[in-house]
Amino acid sequence: MFEAIQRARLDFPILNSMANDRPLVFLDSAASSQKPQCVMDAMTAYYQHSHANVHRGLYQLSERATQAYEEARKAVQQFINAKYTHEIIFTKGTTESINLVASSFASLLKAGDEILISEMEHHSNIVPWQMLCEKTGAILQVIPITDQGELDWETFTRLVSKKVKLLAITHISNVLGTVNPIHSLIEVAHAYNIPVLIDGAQAAPHMALDVQTLNCEFYTFSAHKMYGPTGIGVLYGKEEWLHQLPPYQGGGSMIETVSFEKTTYAGLPQKFEAGTPPIAEAVGLHRAIKYLNQWGLEQIQAYEHYLLTYLETELKKIPSLRIYGQAPEKASVVSFALENIHPHDIATILDHEGIAVRAGHHCAMPLMRRFKVPAMARASLAFYNNREDIEALCRGLEKVKTIMVAEHV
Ligand code: PMP
Repeated sequence: MFEAIQRARLDFPILNSMANDRPLVFLDSAASSQKPQCVMDAMTAYYQHSHANVHRGLYQLSERATQAYEEARKAVQQFINAKYTHEIIFTKGTTESINLVASSFASLLKAGDEILISEMEHHSNIVPWQMLCEKTGAILQVIPITDQGELDWETFTRLVSKKVKLLAITHISNVLGTVNPIHSLIEVAHAYNIPVLIDGAQAAPHMALDVQTLNCEFYTFSAHKMYGPTGIGVLYGKEEWLHQLPPYQGGGSMIETVSFEKTTYAGLPQKFEAGTPPIAEAVGLHRAIKYLNQWGLEQIQAYEHYLLTYLETELKKIPSLRIYGQAPEKASVVSFALENIHPHDIATILDHEGIAVRAGHHCAMPLMRRFKVPAMARASLAFYNNREDIEALCRGLEKVKTIMVAEHV
């Protein structure tokens, strides 16, 4: 089973490297995934043969760079099944995509309006809204979560009202792995005419997306979590919403005419892409999308689900290990505590074994507070992982226990 996809690992040179004299076991893909050779090659080839600034020069090289950049936009449009290519805005990443919407939304809000988020959000889907509320007098409302790590549906239905001007919610929690029922959330929000922004940072690498079927107003994600480069991300926005919002930043490329008296703005998508964009990164993202499509997101999702089940089954065999987040719908992430051992000690000892996991608040301090812990350890999966990685983690955790118990006697 899954023999073919298990060979994907060979496409990632870094996975063949050593860490602390042990073969690297990389279990931190939710923070950033590793890159296949083809993505690195595509970016190098772009710099070797096609680089110039885009949308400016009338010479051949610039036209080639512009074409490569715009082909990347087309690939993203198809990847998420957006209706138009101009609904795809390139940003630095999810964080900037959310900040763009939050900043531009100020023009639509008045004091007393509400923005609705959830208790499981990443800081990048909390802080921009707080800043917006401070600026406008709007109020931030928060959907609580259950002990299982699911949205408290009853409270959600009580919080939605005509006062809510935007629902901003994560598709998949970067801590709990919970896959939120975003179809239903969007349906309920739309019944009140509330536009919905989905933070898809953890979803884009793991499941097929269709923004037209979802019918969300905004969808955001980062290339670096989906086998592409750092420095580029995507904001999808429905055409009518992107028309409605004012530009985020001013500068070159986003204008039609400039005079000291008045500036008029370019149409979509340029209106939201001030300055020289991440061109080589767009080329890398395009190649990453092709790479994902080569395996197919259905196959990737099925294999990762198989790995996740194995990971949870094995972790549950370790006495005194507690998993945070037990929603029936989960993806690729397992956060846990082991006895009273500090997560930083867990991560440090595992690192000595060549195993990379994340420990800390995972940019979700309110969620840590919800579970009454300062930090958690987290193992996250990509489709280049395998059962051996999981077995190495479990052996590593046994070692953590041995070392930490010995320290306390
Ligand atoms: N939202 C979620 C759910 C995330 O996991 C992350 C990255 N950890 C972000 C937003 C922010 O993404 P970036 O740092 O790429 O902007």
